[in-house]
Amino acid sequence: MHIGIIGNGFSGLMVARHLIDLGDTSLSISIFEKQHQPGRGIAYSPQSEKVLLNVVAAKMSAFPDNPTHFVEWLSKQTQFLKDDLNLLANSFVSRAMYGNYLQDLWIETKQIAQTKKIDLELLNLEITDLFCTEKTVHIHTKNNEFLVDKVILATGNQLPGNPKELTGDSMLSNRYFQNPWNYSLNPVDPKKPIFILGNGLTMVDTVMQLREQKCMNQIISLSPHGFHILPHRNFTYTLPDWISELPPSPTLLQLVSAINRQFKALHKHGISAEPLIDSIRPHTQRFWRGFSQYEKKRFMRHFRHLWGLARHRLPFVTYDIIQKERINGSLSIKSGKVISAKPVENGIQITYFDKTSKQNQTILAEVLINCTGPESDITKTNSSLLQNCLKQGYIQQDDLKLGISTNINTFETINAAGKENEKIFAIGNLLRGELWESTAVNELRSQAKNLASAILIN
Ligand SMILES: Cc1cc2nc3c(=O)[nH]c(=O)nc-3n(C[C@H](O)[C@H](O)[C@H](O)COP(=O)(O)OP(=O)(O)OC[C@H]3O[C@@H](n4cnc5c(N)ncnc54)[C@H](O)[C@@H]3O)c2cc1C
Repeated sequence: MHIGIIGNGFSGLMVARHLIDLGDTSLSISIFEKQHQPGRGIAYSPQSEKVLLNVVAAKMSAFPDNPTHFVEWLSKQTQFLKDDLNLLANSFVSRAMYGNYLQDLWIETKQIAQTKKIDLELLNLEITDLFCTEKTVHIHTKNNEFLVDKVILATGNQLPGNPKELTGDSMLSNRYFQNPWNYSLNPVDPKKPIFILGNGLTMVDTVMQLREQKCMNQIISLSPHGFHILPHRNFTYTLPDWISELPPSPTLLQLVSAINRQFKALHKHGISAEPLIDSIRPHTQRFWRGFSQYEKKRFMRHFRHLWGLARHRLPFVTYDIIQKERINGSLSIKSGKVISAKPVENGIQITYFDKTSKQNQTILAEVLINCTGPESDITKTNSSLLQNCLKQGYIQQDDLKLGISTNINTFETINAAGKENEKIFAIGNLLRGELWESTAVNELRSQAKNLASAILIN
């Protein structure tokens, strides 16, 4: 069987690894990757060595059945040779270091494939389209075609969507960066602020990178809620089981009431929501799947941002840096909405509604950086592959447009007629509509293993 994998980030790499571990000489694999070095993807190809993983090393093993794999790998790296394993397990190491781990896994994967006489090739190409016949999937690049028996969409994180308030002028301008993970600043006027859209982990990375590039301009970050991102507090406290008291498929209301009760109990003892979130995470996919469409929509409207705030936390050192920036005023976090952004001769003129003053504000910024996070609505992404698959009816978006409809047991995508595609599979971010949490290593490592078994069994 010849399998094509589109994307060689964490998901593409780890599916290939499990396919090779489970497969034999009848298997051959072609991986297509348009941009990044093997395994790294956007997350682990940071512009700065200083940006850290947002969870501790102990939680970042690439293998679901070998939880200490990453920490053991770390302990063999020159800079950590003398460090205590327990300290390493609780450390927040750099994302670049995690990228090195994945690159080592790629080298090891190639060696295993060679030993097992399985063909494995990595092609540095962007896939733009697919075409399925009864027996074959035709994979298209701009100038070439490849034939495989089955294909896996492991396309991962897309660039942030352009807010509709931005006109053609601003999007074409060199004062606007849609890609917050890969941009370069020309020399900047130190008197004008840098304007960041979004207030999550990508905003934090961007602040860290700007400062590393010696850009000391004032930074303004604007988001609908203007929440202050929270730190990991390193609690050792584990909440007693409260989940088993819930019905197997709690309604959104039952869940929110139970969470509130637990939160108040923790709060009374001066403890943050972190142990509570840890207790919920193994069950989020089950809860999500039990919600009605109406409940999912309510969650998205009322609780998504709060969940994101409680769940996505910063390592303490990073939190400290951001706090200092806020206190000395060099980073100003605002809540509101952009109204317009217009490039002018010496900058970009941004008008936004400021929720605190309840007034429109206009400022002249040096550049505008979009840190609103990966776009999930395929119709708004830059991916011609996903858009073409959608147009041809090979895939359909889920109702909330968080990804695509997929059978979560077989990983087969669902076509426009509502039928499973036996030849097109999906993993990762594309499954967010089905699973809600389908983004982090914590979820992707099991998906990669299960997907490899599902494909080889069929
Ligand atoms: C900035 C950032 C930081 C993160 N930090 C963490 C963290 O600390 N811990 C954690 O658990 N998770 C983190 N995540 C979540 C992260 O999404 C996952 O950990 C993981 O990297 C996702 O892997 P992936 O392979 O699914 O997607 P990606 O890493 O996005 O990889 C997809 C790959 O597919 C390629 N591709 C896409 N389309 C095509 C095409 N048409 N043709 C060819 N190639 C294509 C892309 O170039 C890319 O390399 C972070 C995410 C981001 C964006």
